Amino acid sequence: MSKRITINLTTALTQRDVEFPFEVEFDISSDLLPYPQSKVVGKAKFSGWYVYLDPEVDVFGTIYLTISGLCDKCGEDVVESFEINFDQTFYKQAEEPDDYLYSCSRLYPYDAMQEEVMLSLPTSLLCNSHKDLDD
Ligand SMILES: [Zn+2]
Repeated sequence: MSKRITINLTTALTQRDVEFPFEVEFDISSDLLPYPQSKVVGKAKFSGWYVYLDPEVDVFGTIYLTISGLCDKCGEDVVESFEINFDQTFYKQAEEPDDYLYSCSRLYPYDAMQEEVMLSLPTSLLCNSHKDLDD
């Protein structure tokens, strides 16, 4: 489990159903992007909330990131910003093998956020003219 992002639940665990705002900037490795010769510009950002639902914790909000790379069709430079919805339940004890967990009063959402980014990005990066053709 990657601890690049930490949510301290100490207060939340005493206040069920209260939504606490949470914002963080974090790095996403360019190696993880599905596009050749692409990279994440600057840092990714998460802006959202976490809430204790006793015993699970929900983290939800939006992940913002900008990717620069080459158009899949013509090779032109492309810089595109993405807003990805994130809504993940973290369990105290796993019910399914893939469940994300938190332990004690710490929750590490990085792996789940990275996974959501990978699942949400379009399969290819396209410049504006080729994007219009696809629509
Ligand atoms: Zn193109």
